[in-house]
Amino acid sequence: MPNVKVLFIKIVLAHLSCFGVLSQNNQSQSSTTYKSYQTSIHCTPSEPIHYPKSTEEVVNIVKRAIGENKTVKAFGSRHSITDIICTDGYPVSMKHFDHAIDNEDGTATFGAGIELQDAMIFLEKNGRTLISLPTFGGITLGGAIGTGAHGSSLLHPTSISDQVVRLTLVDGRGSLRDVSDPNELNALRVNLGLFGVIIDVTLQTVPLFKMTVHNRIHADHILTDGRTALRWAAQHDLFQIWWFPSQGDVVVSKGIYHDGTNELGNDTTNFIPDTDFITRNLVGTSFETLQETRNTYAMYLLEAYTKFSLVERVVGRAPIFEEHRNNGSAETWNNFKNPATGFSWRLMSNRCQRSCTWNTDSIRPKFLIEESSIAFDLEEFSSVINMIRKVLRQYPAAFPLVGLFIRFSIPSDGLMAISSNRSTFTVEWTTPMRWNRYEKPKDGIGAYQWILQEMVQNYNGRPHWGKNGLHYFNRDLMASVWKDKRELFVESMTKYDPEGIFLNKFGRRLLGTSDQVDKDSKVYRCALQDYCICQKHDDCGLLQNCVNRNGFNICKDLIDLKLPIISIVN
Ligand SMILES: Cc1cc2nc3c(=O)[nH]c(=O)nc-3n(C[C@H](O)[C@H](O)[C@H](O)COP(=O)(O)OP(=O)(O)OC[C@H]3O[C@@H](n4cnc5c(N)ncnc54)[C@H](O)[C@@H]3O)c2cc1C
Repeated sequence: MPNVKVLFIKIVLAHLSCFGVLSQNNQSQSSTTYKSYQTSIHCTPSEPIHYPKSTEEVVNIVKRAIGENKTVKAFGSRHSITDIICTDGYPVSMKHFDHAIDNEDGTATFGAGIELQDAMIFLEKNGRTLISLPTFGGITLGGAIGTGAHGSSLLHPTSISDQVVRLTLVDGRGSLRDVSDPNELNALRVNLGLFGVIIDVTLQTVPLFKMTVHNRIHADHILTDGRTALRWAAQHDLFQIWWFPSQGDVVVSKGIYHDGTNELGNDTTNFIPDTDFITRNLVGTSFETLQETRNTYAMYLLEAYTKFSLVERVVGRAPIFEEHRNNGSAETWNNFKNPATGFSWRLMSNRCQRSCTWNTDSIRPKFLIEESSIAFDLEEFSSVINMIRKVLRQYPAAFPLVGLFIRFSIPSDGLMAISSNRSTFTVEWTTPMRWNRYEKPKDGIGAYQWILQEMVQNYNGRPHWGKNGLHYFNRDLMASVWKDKRELFVESMTKYDPEGIFLNKFGRRLLGTSDQVDKDSKVYRCALQDYCICQKHDDCGLLQNCVNRNGFNICKDLIDLKLPIISIVN
């Protein structure tokens, strides 16, 4: 029984903090601070961001850093939410490196700062495309191969990294290098930004082709009946699953590639849509209210809403697939399609352009997100799904934004690819951040924490380099997860950067020479954003305790305000 007086004080503090009356955080930020796109990672370099326009300018920055005994880090759209994007010295935005060249040998060369969507539009104009790609067109090619960003298929290479045939980069001596040797490329395919500043990337392309994709709802026993999900995965060019545990359902997306572009249809996906100011604020306020009141049932309804939005038209959400008509004088969208047929890349990937959900143009409320993504050997498929079910039976939690998104990859030659040398599936989810993320826990946080720890510890899970909280990139964990690969990677890295000009705190943890992290200095309840696994109650949110369940430390609400759960989960 918690002490009633202490509990009362905690409740009052919790409510004051909700309205921003209390804040842990009045440290001023340095003028050079920059952040990840959803603001959870804060980098505090000594220099302001540089925006070079030529290779010569990049060389000069690197040489200046060498002379001053400082470090350098290039980045793209900063859509990674780990301190992989940070430096103590010179941050370099590659946004001006956006050139595109169609080569005669079936490859294309792009500036490392070009956004994926722009690269794809260029290829389409030249009758070419990529065999497979990640879902978000707003990432840069340099960033995509920094972390190994991937799509989903057991028939084709899924990552940009695996389609790289050549790279140029400025190395740690300030020299321009051209790399096409396959062995060397394997270390650079997923380079974590640690080899140098990538100037351009040459990709293998294929003739432009169309795809038909069909999303359907199925009962979620297809995940664990021992055959269905993996059989379908092996049969389709594109195959991905959104799992909604509270519904006992999955949405399965099956795509078949067509030969060429003759198939009728000009449909596109809208998976990552533009949102207007009102919708963003409405969504942000709704999630905050539901989380504050621990209304898991309403979150389950949102899971159902998301599920239906992936197969049919629903009010308040852009169609998942839509027809694009261009009759010469006018372009029209907005005709819902499922199944959908169109250029393959336009059905796999898109980008919000005018206004993404996470844009922070509003003062408050706002809608920011965090992501978790872990990759496993395909052989663990049923066991991982059953483990998630087991946890959710004890700790109900909702996955209202994209469910549990399950994707597949064939083995990659990239040393540090999450699918390196093994057929892989990834389980990912996105959670809305609390408005007061420094003190208020997310609804379901205990379940998320348990699942993630068990995934890595018991199922040999590899955390996606650009997603997940900082705990999943601590020194010990990186050493154990990457024990077979790290040595070879570091050996190769040292050849390109012998003096560690591109090392940052993240890189030093990978090397095992430091424990330091680049973090938001306001975070003091470290388990709330997966900076740590809780060791004491104060690591968790207000009105929470740190408890041990099944050997895993997780944050648990002091008073469980949830209504008793009728077993919705299988
Ligand atoms: C909405 C959304 C959807 C996403 N969808 C997917 C998905 O479908 N699949 C997936 O796997 N991931 C996905 N991600 C994660 C994302 O793809 C990766 O985090 C990717 O690395 C981000 O690219 P970026 O351009 O923002 O790179 P950044 O985050 O800016 O950088 C990532 C790394 O690359 C390095 N880097 C970047 N450019 C250079 C360069 N020119 N030279 C040297 N190093 C460089 C940086 O130093 C850093 O280490 C998604 C992220 C978001 C926000």
